[in-house]
Amino acid sequence: MKVPEHFGELVFDDTTMRSRLPRETYEALKRTINQGRSLDINVANVVANAMKNWAVERGATHYTHWFQPMTGITAEKHNSFISPTPDGRVIMEFSGSELVRGESDASSFPSGGLRATFEARGYTAWDPTSYAFIKGRTLCIPTAFCSYGGHALDKKTPLLRSMEAINRQALRILRLFGNTNVSYVRTCVGAEQEYFLIDKAMFDKRPDLKFCGRTLFGAKPPKGQELEDHYYGPIKPRVAAFMEELNDELWKVGILAKTQHNEVAPSQHELAPIFTTTNIATDHNQLIMELMKQVASKHGMVCLLHEKPFAGVNGSGKHNNWSLATDTGINLLTPGDTPYENAQFLLFLVAVIQAVDDYQDLLRLSVATAGNDLRLGANEAPPNIISVFLGEELSAVLDAIEHNKPYNSGKKEVIKLGVHVLPKFPKDTTDRNRTSPFAFTGNKFEFRMVGASNSIACANIMINTAVAESLRQYADYLEAAPDFIPALQELIRSTIIKHKRIIFNGNNYDPAWQSEAVGVRGLLNLKTTPDCMPCLLSKKNVELLVSHRVYSEPELRSRCEIILENYCKVINIEALTMIEMARKQILPAVEGYCADLANAAALKRAIVPDIELSYEKGLIQRLTRLINEISERTDALEAALCEIRKIETVEKQSCACRDLILTKMNELRAAADEAETIVAGGYWPYPTYGELLFGVR
Ligand code: ADP
Ligand code: MG
Repeated sequence: MKVPEHFGELVFDDTTMRSRLPRETYEALKRTINQGRSLDINVANVVANAMKNWAVERGATHYTHWFQPMTGITAEKHNSFISPTPDGRVIMEFSGSELVRGESDASSFPSGGLRATFEARGYTAWDPTSYAFIKGRTLCIPTAFCSYGGHALDKKTPLLRSMEAINRQALRILRLFGNTNVSYVRTCVGAEQEYFLIDKAMFDKRPDLKFCGRTLFGAKPPKGQELEDHYYGPIKPRVAAFMEELNDELWKVGILAKTQHNEVAPSQHELAPIFTTTNIATDHNQLIMELMKQVASKHGMVCLLHEKPFAGVNGSGKHNNWSLATDTGINLLTPGDTPYENAQFLLFLVAVIQAVDDYQDLLRLSVATAGNDLRLGANEAPPNIISVFLGEELSAVLDAIEHNKPYNSGKKEVIKLGVHVLPKFPKDTTDRNRTSPFAFTGNKFEFRMVGASNSIACANIMINTAVAESLRQYADYLEAAPDFIPALQELIRSTIIKHKRIIFNGNNYDPAWQSEAVGVRGLLNLKTTPDCMPCLLSKKNVELLVSHRVYSEPELRSRCEIILENYCKVINIEALTMIEMARKQILPAVEGYCADLANAAALKRAIVPDIELSYEKGLIQRLTRLINEISERTDALEAALCEIRKIETVEKQSCACRDLILTKMNELRAAADEAETIVAGGYWPYPTYGELLFGVR
């Protein structure tokens, strides 16, 4: 495929709009996109008609409002364009009102109590800042999703609100620096996506992968990732063919897929697109995940996006690269060439540092799921403790400002903001601390805790709003200050002093860090979803999110409930799957092998009566012990599931899932995994870890 020719061919993008819309319509639409003006229905009608013609020419027969309910995946309900004519034929029609607003029965989407079932309707509203695109034979229109009462039922509405919040506050700061030509500030995101590819035939043999997306049993293979020979290794032909087709599909829908490589774990890979505006990056990430699964199945493989599909090897996450940019093309996290730009950079930098420190709990809970809990803090994943990596040079600059001392040995003068130019920070000296959950990497921050299957919306909602709050405080203070530069210097200095505890450039995997972080620095260590979710409703966090108009209080309560409910459901499904696997397949398999051994021993003894049978005896004894253990532990898990059903509140239930069910699951797994290591090949009902991880060639 000739990439430049085909790139974006399935997107109703700016070029297409310009060529297909009358000039006034195009300009009115651009005003809506860039300045958030509401769209006149006459303009919407013209846009809808042009969009429909364009889509029909490309084979589309249907349209859908494409939205992101709180399930974390995307939803669509297709309507055809057909409209009957008096002569019994049809024409293809699409009106402005259909484009701008849709109505759908939303009763089966999670709402966390926001929408009573008798009020089942939900509304979808076009987000014109994210372009419409064609998927299959359907024109997809990115939309927000609200209840009849106006509550956000999705992840996109709060995301857009958080982008507005940070825009409002960042503009106030820029004005203080005398910047009048910027008309808006946007956050940008590049989300690196990790995933596993495994063979479809093997996947089909494993109920755990089918129902839960991760293995619930599986003994450690002789070879895992210890040699790290997979990382950046040559890409196997079958995987290469997958990547090639995936790239073509992504490019056609206008996604800037850029980098691909093998990851650390065997069968693990990564794809990174070029960064773009956050809401578009979020839409694109959802599409990337969807297309990865689709394309994999065409190649006889399954794409696993679970955060921890295999115990003992790396899990999968997303690195959410985040920055702030003006409409004039300036990245506010790049130190500039002049003293004023430098001072401005430092203010935005400390704003992020403060935000991460003040709202550690919100960042942690923005990535909380049952799956991600298994990944964080294990095998090369960031720990549950949030800290910021700045690198030595930038830390030295902050240190000099804090102590009013000269920066670097060559210079004698102390750094005076608004007077001195900072040195450039080459990317290579700031990057490469792979252990940090929140790292400054030259001109952006990389939040590495997002889970592979999570929507990136939640993480960005929290980052945007927390930074908006730092900026609000700074703007309030500086706008009232009689003398800007000294006030700025003092503000940056006091912010460093107050929030430097969150800065950590060392190894986050080091157990000593865990005790220092919590014991000495007082940082949070929220290990699981039930630990962190209640923080969403703390006074400080509700105040933040409500005052910046990102969530209403009922919306927050609903999110908390949905996430905890989902946590319990996921663990419940996993437990039930284990019980079924243990009873229907694992126990019979071990029993079958045991019986064959016993028969073999009996036969031998029939031929040679006093024959020594130590091998068979020992093995039969060990297998029998394991059979009993597996059986008892399966029963115990089942009993525990019955227990937790009696618990009334979802908060308590989620804690019981964590403390009771997960423990019982681990105990059952340990017995079954031990059995797997001694049962002869051919008896075990499932493909092994070795086969799964090294099965695609
Ligand atoms: P790596 O982290 O592997 O060294 P890069 O830093 O080049 O790779 O890029 C990782 C991701 O960060 C890519 O998706 C890239 O587009 C994105 N990125 C680069 N610059 C920015 C920026 N200013 N804002 C947001 N994302 C960015
Ligand atoms: Mg990276």
